[in-house]
Amino acid sequence: MSIILFSFLLLGFDPLKTLDDTSHPSVKNKKFPCPNCPSAFGQKPSLTRHLKYECGQEPRFQCPYCHFRSKKTSDVYSHVRRKHVNYKVFAVDIHGELVKNLLTKTHWL
Ligand SMILES: [Zn+2]
Ligand SMILES: [Zn+2]
Repeated sequence: MSIILFSFLLLGFDPLKTLDDTSHPSVKNKKFPCPNCPSAFGQKPSLTRHLKYECGQEPRFQCPYCHFRSKKTSDVYSHVRRKHVNYKVFAVDIHGELVKNLLTKTHWL
């Protein structure tokens, strides 16, 4: 009895879980793959945060010169430097614009 228990502790993994992991070779080292996109995470809080704030969310920052959008300003900056050479490097905050418009409306009302 105690020997069996010790064996499980020694192994430290569920054989069925290991088998399941092999079906996702691209996320082999990540224990928590996102069900909605190819992202995977080593820790559950990271996946939870991803689902809450990143996955399925509209990219917030947009290139001022084309329709390119990203969740990170740094991505937009590097995009502008690469695709729109000699243009001013900045990003449009979609949420910021939306808030400003709403404030203007309430001001007029
Ligand atoms: Zn996702
Ligand atoms: Zn662009």
